[in-house]
Amino acid sequence: MRVVFSVFFILLFSQIVFSQELICYLQSLKHRYDHIIETSSEKEILNKSLSEKYRDEIIVALSFFPELKDTRIQFKRKRFFIRASMTSSPSFFSVFRKKEKRKYVISINNRKGLFKGVRLASVSFAGRVGVLGHELCHVVDYESQDFFELIKFGVLYSLSSKEMKRVEHETDLLTLKHGLGCELWHFKKYIFSNIKRSNKYRKKILEFYMTDQDVYNYIEKDN
Ligand SMILES: [Zn+2]
Repeated sequence: MRVVFSVFFILLFSQIVFSQELICYLQSLKHRYDHIIETSSEKEILNKSLSEKYRDEIIVALSFFPELKDTRIQFKRKRFFIRASMTSSPSFFSVFRKKEKRKYVISINNRKGLFKGVRLASVSFAGRVGVLGHELCHVVDYESQDFFELIKFGVLYSLSSKEMKRVEHETDLLTLKHGLGCELWHFKKYIFSNIKRSNKYRKKILEFYMTDQDVYNYIEKDN
C-alpha cells in the first residue's frame, strides 16, 4: 500500500512540476526575448550604463519598466561589499540630490569576493531577467521616495529583519505585477533545485523572499 501511495505522490509531484515547466516554457520565452532584443533601440537604453556580460538580459528586463526610461541606472559587476547575487541602491552622493538627478547602481556579484551568491552564468537567461527585474522594482520603489523616506527605508531595512521580509515580499510581488512571473519563477526554481539546503543564500531566500511555489501560485491565479 505504501508503495502505491509513494508512486501516486511521485506522479502527482512530477505532474505539478511538468505543468509549471509548460506554462513558463523556456523556448517560448526565448522567442519573446529575441524579439525584444532585435527591436530594442539606443533610445530605450538611454541613461543606462550596461554591464557587457549581461547586456541582453538587461535590455529585456528594462523593456518591462517603461517608467524607468529617463532614470539613470548603472549596472556594474562588483566583488566587494555585496551580500547578495545582486543589489540595488541610489549611488551615495545622489541621495542628497534632487530626485530627478538621482542615479542608481545595480551591482551584480562577480563571485570573486568573499560572498559569492548564485552562479548567474548557470541560471537560465529567463532567470537572470527575473532577478534583474526584481532589482529594477527596488529602483521603482526608491523613485517614489524623497530624501527622508530613503534614509528611513535604509535604516529600517538594515536593522529589522521583519521590515526586510516585508520589503522583499513586496518587491517580488511588484516583479510579478510587471509581467515577470515566469522569469522570477525560473530564478527561484534554480535556487531551490540546485543549491544545497545548508547554503546560506538559499536559507536567506527562503526566509525573506517568495518561494518558487509562491510565485507559481500567483502566475496560475493570474492566468
Ligand atoms: Zn530585493
